[in-house]
Amino acid sequence: MTDVQLSREPDASLKERPPAISLRRYVALLAAVWTGVMILSLAANLCLQYVITIWMIHGVLWLLGLGGIFLAAARLDKSLTRQQRMELELLEANRTLEALIEASPLAIIALDARGCVRLWNPAATSIFGWQASQTVGQQPPFLTDNPQPEFQEIYSRGLQGEPVGGVASCRHRNGITLDISFSMSPLHGSHQGNLDGVMLVLEDITERRRTEEELFKANEELKVWVYEFSHRNKDITLLNEMGDHLQACRTLEEGYAGVSRFASRMFPDLSGTLFMFNAEKHVVEAVAHWGDPQTGAAIFPPDDCWALRTGKEHLVQETGSDSQCGHLTGFTRGYMCVPMIAHGEILGLLTFLKNPQENFPEETLADSKKKLAITAAKQIALSLANLNLRNSLQEQAIRDPLTGLFNRRYMEEMLDREIFRVRRKRAPLGIIMLDLDHFKHFNDTFGHEGGDTLLQALAGLVRRNIRREDIACRYGGEEFIIILPEALLQITADRAELLRQQVQELQVAYQDRPLGPINVSLGVAVFPDHGANGEALIRAADSALYRAKEGGRNRVVVAGAEK
Ligand code: GH3
Ligand code: MG
Ligand code: MG
Repeated sequence: MTDVQLSREPDASLKERPPAISLRRYVALLAAVWTGVMILSLAANLCLQYVITIWMIHGVLWLLGLGGIFLAAARLDKSLTRQQRMELELLEANRTLEALIEASPLAIIALDARGCVRLWNPAATSIFGWQASQTVGQQPPFLTDNPQPEFQEIYSRGLQGEPVGGVASCRHRNGITLDISFSMSPLHGSHQGNLDGVMLVLEDITERRRTEEELFKANEELKVWVYEFSHRNKDITLLNEMGDHLQACRTLEEGYAGVSRFASRMFPDLSGTLFMFNAEKHVVEAVAHWGDPQTGAAIFPPDDCWALRTGKEHLVQETGSDSQCGHLTGFTRGYMCVPMIAHGEILGLLTFLKNPQENFPEETLADSKKKLAITAAKQIALSLANLNLRNSLQEQAIRDPLTGLFNRRYMEEMLDREIFRVRRKRAPLGIIMLDLDHFKHFNDTFGHEGGDTLLQALAGLVRRNIRREDIACRYGGEEFIIILPEALLQITADRAELLRQQVQELQVAYQDRPLGPINVSLGVAVFPDHGANGEALIRAADSALYRAKEGGRNRVVVAGAEK
């Protein structure tokens, strides 16, 4: 059935044992006995016992011949048994080898010296689809259309007796390409060094490779997930930190600075700008930015941004496209705009712009970053809206709604605080109490709203004519108080006089009708000369104002020293 040879050591028990007496020795002994007999017969003749001698001689010869025949028969029998046993063992070994080849899960193909199939086992049939009867005597069929030159080269080296191996793509009978792991070993004939053929051992590793590839892919995906997860963890921590920070901010400006600082940490590969919607002017204004300073227009109408128009994020991968936002005209890199919406209202906009040297958006604005940008925009919007609300509530609590000046409660609080401060610095503090002359007349003539217009105009004038550190408030009705920290008496009186003159020049109209000449009376008092605390100081200014009214109005009166 097969030419595959087994080389094995003969069984030790089968080794030929030396016989008790060898044939050569037996012949030599016979010759010696025969010579002895001849000599004895000669002697017997001489001794006249010829007949007896003859019988004896023949008897001895008969016995020796019989012994020789037995000896030869025994040796022949022994030799035949050994040969039969060896043949049987060889047959058994062949059967075992055949069974192994038959049952092997690996394809085993024996080729003759010409490279034609001599043996083709069932595993080869199940891997390649051809039956042994279709392949024996021919080149292995999976070779004929194998396009891989490197495999062909290795295969021809293997055919020449070089032990080779590797992985190659081979075709199944039905045309499907298989990944095959193969090894080729030479088969030597009975003469040493004579190449009798080649043995091919092949394994179909297509499935294993696919599993390996899937495993590798799964592993790579896992790596990406772990990477994203660790980054997301970091991002979530930053988001939380930013939320806490914005909660603690007292002014919007502090909030804007916080947004820029945290955004630069969350999006280190992108630049960006925070825009806030200015409802009064109906524009969007840049209030903070991070990264590259090229951020497009700093102020623009909301309609210039697609994200503000549509109310959802707007990603532009290739600039120059139709959907490029107006506020980024001329910007030559990709970007994303995310509207900031809180309580259903658009509060502003966050832009994320590609840095000049970055690849965008594949690397810098991956899906996770887009989600983070949207989440960050939501959180920033809510925090800034809360801050806005808190500020406006605070403003409402301390400001007079008609004039926008501080209210009386706030003024009293601030006056005590400022007196405490200037006392420590050993500095003065001036206050001016201002009252509109004959205000009732304006109300009577132009109505209450006309009077309100005048109050607003006067408040505007006061606001424009005070320093940043001065505090102006509406004390009541048509009375105003201005606190001038660290102002000496003379300076305070001069400022009061200046105000009086400016009010005189004030032109206010209500419903296109001029309100006519406006005058104010002013009382001036200074800490510590006219009062050691806020209450005393206001009282002093009030009595100075009263004297100004009494003195004929439209004038400034300084409080008398009331120490
Ligand atoms: P004087 O020169 O002595 O100060 O005379 P006056 O008319 O200014 O003072 P008076 O105290 O007689 O009148 C003040 C008026 O201011 C009475 C009140 O109706 C009016 N008034 C108080 N608060 C408001 C306000 O918020 N709006 C308007 N329009 N009028 C107010
Ligand atoms: Mg008045
Ligand atoms: Mg008054």
